[in-house]
Amino acid sequence: MAALASQCLACPVRDVCGGGNYVHRFDPVRGFRNPSVYCADLLRLITHIASAVRLSLLTRPRPTRPAAP
Ligand code: SF4
Repeated sequence: MAALASQCLACPVRDVCGGGNYVHRFDPVRGFRNPSVYCADLLRLITHIASAVRLSLLTRPRPTRPAAP
């Protein structure tokens, strides 16, 4: 957490993204405490996957128990 930028600390997908790949955060002025250069893509990808998983869990058929012998 100490290595994350303030934008990442406040991000709703922070726990999944983790600020992105460390080397993608480097800036010659501020070092590594920046969001990933792929921030917009990471946010879009992670929220898309979360929505797809949520929808899948809500719409999948529930397993049925086998009949008792
Ligand atoms: S999506 Fe962007 S702001 Fe959020 S944690 Fe990842 S790099 Fe940081």
